[in-house]
Amino acid sequence: MKKIGITTTVPIETIYAAGCVPVDLNNRFVASPDPASLIGTAEREGWPRNMCAWVKGIYGTALQSDDIETVIAVTRGDCSNTEALMETLQHHGVTVIPFAYPHDRDAAALEAETRKLAETLGATWEATLAVHEKMKPARENLIAIDEMTWRTGAVSGGENFSWLISSSDFEGDPEGFAKRSGEFLREASQAQPTANEGVRVALLGIPPIFADLFDFLDAKGARVVFNEIPRQFSMPHHALGLVEQYRRYTYPYDIFFRLKDIRREIARRNVEGVIHYAQSFCYRQIQDIIVRDEIDLPILTLEGDRPGPLDARSRLRLETFVEILQLKRDGQGPQPKEK
Ligand code: SF4
Repeated sequence: MKKIGITTTVPIETIYAAGCVPVDLNNRFVASPDPASLIGTAEREGWPRNMCAWVKGIYGTALQSDDIETVIAVTRGDCSNTEALMETLQHHGVTVIPFAYPHDRDAAALEAETRKLAETLGATWEATLAVHEKMKPARENLIAIDEMTWRTGAVSGGENFSWLISSSDFEGDPEGFAKRSGEFLREASQAQPTANEGVRVALLGIPPIFADLFDFLDAKGARVVFNEIPRQFSMPHHALGLVEQYRRYTYPYDIFFRLKDIRREIARRNVEGVIHYAQSFCYRQIQDIIVRDEIDLPILTLEGDRPGPLDARSRLRLETFVEILQLKRDGQGPQPKEK
């Protein structure tokens, strides 16, 4: 089956309905045995050093993947660098299909754009809707995995992240994914609940590029009970229909729409502190100003650049932040937002 590269979450139902398989280039980039070499590919071609490593990694991955000849690029609702990414890939002979989330979340415009994508790929609308139905078991399992993370603690923050982030392409096999995630759920339901252990932390923003963030937080006594963007990738509102699912998906829309979801989730998950991940050289870093103003909890803004383990400074900042939350939980005075 033909593989189609994606640079962020798009209506993958259209891709499967066309008899193709989506490949999330972000996941392929970080899972690569040598992600630094993929960034190097981009930099050797002239991509600036002071540009986000994710976008350079996507570029290097797309060029070095012999099985990817076509890429869907989100021209509105993802990244300010996408247009240049599209053009440089096209320059290398990659076929690029644009997709744009409507700025105002207008249902008719979103449906028209999704139908256009389906048509471009060679899928009918009926087949696209049928795939949406077939994906329900996998998406239901992800909702259950998320629930078991914050309600009982039977699923760790790292496990939650891995499962939810993989739903951007379902690893090329939604039915196999449903089966594997169902087995994981059965095993997790036998696990010892740990809901009261560790301070409860939310992780907001772009998926972190650090490889050991969850292990480090676990070791320091913090549990991630809310992975904001991976949860969005899993489409928790899928039951409302294909178009509504992508209207409720917060990532492509403005920060205020995202904040409504964030506030609701941190309240019901009893979150005690927030880590806002900001990627170096990403325009979304600017949104940190609003996030810090709008969320009334201790917030740590964590910046990452290249793939790999946490650097010493980030480890120290995280450790201090967790200690602050632990002191706060123990009633040792309110703490200011950590800068
Ligand atoms: S982290 Fe920011 S700059 Fe980098 S690819 Fe994502 S949206 Fe673009």
